[in-house]
Amino acid sequence: MRKIGIIGGGASGLAAAVTAAAGPENIKIFILEHKDQAGKKLLSTGNGRCNLTNERMDSSFFRSEEIRCVEKVLEQFDASDTIHFFEELGLMMRSRNGYIYPRCEQASAVRDLLVKEAERRGVVIYTNIHVTEIVPGKKGFQVFGRSSDTKDLKKRRFSFDKLILACGGRAAKVLGSDGSGYTLAKTLGHTLVPVVPALVQLKVEEHPFKEASGVRTEAGVSAYIAGEKICRDTGELQITNYGISGIPVFQISRYVARALYEKRRAEVEIDLLPSMSEDAFFSYLIKRRIGKEAMQTGDFLAGIFHGRLTACLLARLKIPALRPAGELSEREIIKFVKQCKHSLLSIQDTTGYDNAQACAGGISLGEVDCVTMESRYVKGLYLTGELLDADGMCGGYNLQWAWATGILAGRHIISEIDMKQGKGEKDA
Ligand SMILES: Cc1cc2nc3c(=O)[nH]c(=O)nc-3n(C[C@H](O)[C@H](O)[C@H](O)COP(=O)(O)OP(=O)(O)OC[C@H]3O[C@@H](n4cnc5c(N)ncnc54)[C@H](O)[C@@H]3O)c2cc1C
Repeated sequence: MRKIGIIGGGASGLAAAVTAAAGPENIKIFILEHKDQAGKKLLSTGNGRCNLTNERMDSSFFRSEEIRCVEKVLEQFDASDTIHFFEELGLMMRSRNGYIYPRCEQASAVRDLLVKEAERRGVVIYTNIHVTEIVPGKKGFQVFGRSSDTKDLKKRRFSFDKLILACGGRAAKVLGSDGSGYTLAKTLGHTLVPVVPALVQLKVEEHPFKEASGVRTEAGVSAYIAGEKICRDTGELQITNYGISGIPVFQISRYVARALYEKRRAEVEIDLLPSMSEDAFFSYLIKRRIGKEAMQTGDFLAGIFHGRLTACLLARLKIPALRPAGELSEREIIKFVKQCKHSLLSIQDTTGYDNAQACAGGISLGEVDCVTMESRYVKGLYLTGELLDADGMCGGYNLQWAWATGILAGRHIISEIDMKQGKGEKDA
């Protein structure tokens, strides 16, 4: 009997387990998971609906120091393979503009199907086991751990022929991934591309829109690092009392987080009217003012932005909201337009790993065979999921990476064991 250990019962660990457990009968799969249940993070994904992949899928939606490796993984296992994998498990799905969700919109359906299928295929899931040490030997791996219950001090020891490290990164520790996977991989000789939070909110220095906290508005959001524009995204911006949030902020956050880690200046430019050019907005305001000169400026601008946001914009330009609109000079209107289209916010920090949905950085993909996910340093060791240096944009990309890498590892383990079995039979 060949024993396969999987450290971490998250998305990639469960996908690997279900895949490998479909292999020959002489394989026994064990998951060691330090939370009280497997797939805890999955339950929180996609706001409880689990955006499990995306029809628009290629490596341009990912960042990594080894992007060719991401391409290779996606060439072998893309969004249609994910959909097929879940269809086979019995999940009905639906597409919302290419974003794939379970039809029932319940993340628990995804988690439950994976766990139940793993159990049906004979996978043993040990929960409340925190793995602390892995010792590779000639004939496999000794894995040491302890109970997650701090009162239980007994050390646990397991032996496996092959091992999949699927511990995730360090985003949202409360859901399980606490960064211990990085330490385990490093002790096995792997190197870490520095890790920063990704898909995370940003804290703003001297926040000019603080009074508009709670307001949501369509906006273009661009990241400037040391004065250079790096990327832009458009969508619903959420103004908070500490800074900015929302999907477009998440999408650019990994660049800002990396810059802050490298002690470089990070700024975000907000375009509060992405659908209109500066010139068009200026002409619109000039035209709109005709016949409304006596109106107070605040009232004259009503309906373009949320009232509290307009108040912040005017306050920043020191234009009294009560002043008649007709008294605004063209220069002041140009300044207002520029403020709306190019508000530059200085970024102090992210809201950290606890609030992040993913991590950027991780174990270098250059140290992994991206066809099999096997370590180039330790034979029989596989690394999968967010533990690795690949982060996807918001939209089902991080789960796609977790499924793909887990399933590739599971498949390779089966094929290796199949091959050895065949060879053994022939030799006999
Ligand atoms: C709130 C939230 C919402 C998200 N929504 C989406 C979404 O809709 N779509 C999307 O694509 N991505 C989403 N993500 C990201 C996605 O969930 C992760 O990228 C993905 O789960 C990573 O899979 P993984 O298997 O690598 O790691 P994880 O799912 O984090 O699993 C790792 C597992 O290993 C266990 N573990 C860690 N260390 C040890 C140890 N030492 N011993 C034993 N067990 C250990 C952990 O408890 C955990 O169960 C979201 C993330 C968060 C936090």
